[in-house]
Amino acid sequence: MKNNKKSSKRFVLVTGGTGYIGSHTVVALIAAGYNPIIVDNLSNSKVSVLKRIKKITGKLPLFYKMDLRNTMALNKIFQKHSIASVIHFAGFKAVGESVAEPLKYYENNIQSTISLCKVMNMHSVKKIIFSSSASVYGEASVVPIKENSLPVPASPYACTKLMIEQILIDIYLADPFWRIALLRYFNPVGAHESGLMGEDPQGIPNNLMPYISQVAVGRHKKVNIFGNDYPTDDGTGVRDYIHVMDLAEGHVAALKKIETATFKKPQIINLGTGKGYSVIEILRAFEKAAGKVIPYRITKRRPGDIAACYADIKLAKKLLGWKAKRNLADMCADAWHWQSQNPKGY
Ligand code: NAD
Ligand code: UDP
Repeated sequence: MKNNKKSSKRFVLVTGGTGYIGSHTVVALIAAGYNPIIVDNLSNSKVSVLKRIKKITGKLPLFYKMDLRNTMALNKIFQKHSIASVIHFAGFKAVGESVAEPLKYYENNIQSTISLCKVMNMHSVKKIIFSSSASVYGEASVVPIKENSLPVPASPYACTKLMIEQILIDIYLADPFWRIALLRYFNPVGAHESGLMGEDPQGIPNNLMPYISQVAVGRHKKVNIFGNDYPTDDGTGVRDYIHVMDLAEGHVAALKKIETATFKKPQIINLGTGKGYSVIEILRAFEKAAGKVIPYRITKRRPGDIAACYADIKLAKKLLGWKAKRNLADMCADAWHWQSQNPKGY
């Protein structure tokens, strides 16, 4: 006999949960005693990550290969499972591509979120954590960047993040029972300490750390350093790199807060370490972790890049009781452990 009754097991829906940050967060959620369900269309990730999650945690999370914009299919998942809250990672994230193909970004990132929130509303699921980005601050910011800095997004990607924040704020204004955390990540890097999971960019990496690790493993000849004439100590760009497992644990801390309804209104929170490192410092730290020289050359600035960007992290400490624990050496060691064991990714 078919049983249409929902089980009493309570789930956290993780959209984009087979992706880089999502998969690490699933591991942290399981470690904290949660039951994650993953929805991902695998447009930028591989299903084989699920086996790695099982290897690390002993649990295979429920997985649905599905596009979030398919509202009917999403509704069925909410009908079937008792979902208590949502962590919404799914979306496209390449800044350069968003400049070249803005509609692709607005369509996917915004429509996915609208579809998700409609279904959440239908099922009275009103707790959501959203993956926003330090890119919403854009160029005009003073460092360290506080959450109340005026956002000046400089790409369609960053605009989608700010628009989604606004959509969620408006949803709350219409219905104050929603509990919303808008987490603005700085530069997530590194991998799970087991070396079983890590970042697996499709094609040539846009970001610094995965590019360096692919050079270290022989997939590219040299790192291109985009400009050494910035007004920073060594002239190269400074960013706030955060270990992906610290970021994952930041989500668990935020989930605990929205569950206990600590946030009375949508809460924007920076997730970073508060420390800035230059491109050269990252390269040197990676060389130390990998025990090899990493060739590089200085090239011209990448359009749209800024000199320095790092977080003011006081609010995260105050509101979440969370602070990043892992340092730059850990980030590089874990990234290298992953890359050297999995030179071609998953
Ligand atoms: P990722 O590409 O590895 O993960 C995103 C996942 O979403 C992928 O697995 C992809 O297949 C899935 N996806 C995309 N569109 C979908 C759709 N319509 N339906 C279902 N699944 C869909 O990216 P990530 O680095 O893990 O980033 C996760 C989130 O964090 C993104 O929203 C990103 O914008 C944000 N973020 C990332 C960074 C970063 O540097 N990695 C920085 C700030 C913010
Ligand atoms: N960067 C670089 N070479 C690369 C990729 C990045 O020199 O191949 C620099 C970039 O100019 C910036 C820093 O590294 O100063 C971090 O860039 P990334 O793309 O990783 O992050 P974001 O620009 O989003 O902060």
